[in-house]
Amino acid sequence: MEFWVFTVLRLALLALAGAVMGWVFGPVPALALVCAVLLLGQGYQIWQLRRLRRWLKATDASRLPEETGLWGDIFVDLYRAQKQQARDREQLTTALDRFREAASALPEGVLMLDGDGRIEWFNAYAQTQFGLDPGRDVGTLATHLIRQPEFSSYAQSNDWREPVLLRVGQGQVRDLSVLLVPFAGGRLLYSRDVTQLQRVETMRRDFIANVSHELRTPLTVILGFLDPLAHDQDLPVESRARFLAMIQDQAQRMSRLVEDLLTLSRLEAKSDPQREEPVDVPALLATLLDEGRALSGGRHRFEEDIAPHGLMGCPLELRSAFGNLISNAVRYTPEGGRIKVRWARENEGALFEVSDTGIGIPAEHIPRLTERFYRVDKGRSTETGGTGLGLSIVKHVLLHHQARLDVESTPGQGSRFRVLFPAGRMVASVR
Ligand code: ADP
Repeated sequence: MEFWVFTVLRLALLALAGAVMGWVFGPVPALALVCAVLLLGQGYQIWQLRRLRRWLKATDASRLPEETGLWGDIFVDLYRAQKQQARDREQLTTALDRFREAASALPEGVLMLDGDGRIEWFNAYAQTQFGLDPGRDVGTLATHLIRQPEFSSYAQSNDWREPVLLRVGQGQVRDLSVLLVPFAGGRLLYSRDVTQLQRVETMRRDFIANVSHELRTPLTVILGFLDPLAHDQDLPVESRARFLAMIQDQAQRMSRLVEDLLTLSRLEAKSDPQREEPVDVPALLATLLDEGRALSGGRHRFEEDIAPHGLMGCPLELRSAFGNLISNAVRYTPEGGRIKVRWARENEGALFEVSDTGIGIPAEHIPRLTERFYRVDKGRSTETGGTGLGLSIVKHVLLHHQARLDVESTPGQGSRFRVLFPAGRMVASVR
């Protein structure tokens, strides 16, 4: 408002001065005066516009040209707008930096793709998961770098409600769960390493399949013998007795299996041995050797070399582990063979060793012996009452006691199972 009043006043003043000049000196000098004043005004505006331009182009725009009036206001307004813009830009950069830092710190892979699926940015996890190179791969189509056909069809499907599972990497293969999320005109690719989960899932599936299979075999036999027993009135007494013995045998097999499964699940449930106490190993071994001799039924020669010291640990778990190793030696050593049990003090710690002159184990099987249900010869294991879980139980017990298992074996000549406990677990004679 003020602006218009001044402008109108100025023009009125000029008109008045022109009229007075016209009245005193005639119209020509009056017109010349008005034109001269208007030209001067125009010159002043051009000069200010030039200043404005120079100021806008100046690298140091913080020094405001000194001016009053309308041009002064314009300079101040522009200056303020410029400052505000700089502040907004700074805030935006900080927010973007924070977002990138957050995305970089995520323990999962994040890739930002544009609307065409070209990579704009990725975090360190994505870089390792997909083997990307920040210098080379930005701007490249994601489908060119993630070459799994499952990913291409997933990216093209436009149905991204569920993630897709990809197997990536050479040598060390990883399973990744990859999800695309539409995001501000582009998409966000989110990848999670599920290798461990997949492994656990496979193990769980295999385990259930194995247990069902192990239980189904004796059950089928039992049902097969029960049928004639229940329906065949003329079944001879000897056959009846034989069938009942078979049923009993299979029921015992199932019972052993369930027993071993329970032991294994108890061992897996706790990470430390329960109720640790000084265990009288020589006494424990005397009992286990008696059981071993009973299992052998005089078919093997036993040797023992037992030092008097004890061991800090869980007696029930140690009984189970040592018992399994001794019974294995008996079960996998043909008649006439020799079984030696040793309990000794070694430089590195306490050693429990069972060696036999049995059938031995081919080298390629040794690393897998402690897997659940892993058997070299399934027939022989079942025949001798094995469940395929003995060495898994041994492995867990040893884990609880920070002990190590070494297996040496030569097929046809025999095996040696060595268990080394840390020296700190050794205790002087318990008795
Ligand atoms: P199993 O109940 O079948 O004996 P284990 O877990 O105790 O199950 O042992 C796994 C496999 O390792 C056995 O099936 C057998 O093939 C092999 N094995 C274990 N101990 C011996 C041994 N002393 N001599 C030869 N083979 C053995």
